[in-house]
Amino acid sequence: MTKMTNFKIGLNEYPWESMRSPEEIREDENHARHLEGSCEGAPCCWECQEQREEAEAANEQKTDAIVESIALMFESIFRARERK
Ligand SMILES: [Zn+2]
Repeated sequence: MTKMTNFKIGLNEYPWESMRSPEEIREDENHARHLEGSCEGAPCCWECQEQREEAEAANEQKTDAIVESIALMFESIFRARERK
């Protein structure tokens, strides 16, 4: 009974199972592990790799924003001094 139920769930989850290549199945398994947090991580897990790249890009943007705000701060200090 349990086995039959499992089989049913399996079919419902992947009705296209027989059409998928081993690579796609591996990607799905990796995706499931990634969601569980038990994946191999970057660079083995492309999703982790993608997240890492996104985080790096976000960090770069953050650094740019900080540099820009410091520049603006200095600019306003210099302007305030010029007015004296
Ligand atoms: Zn991952």
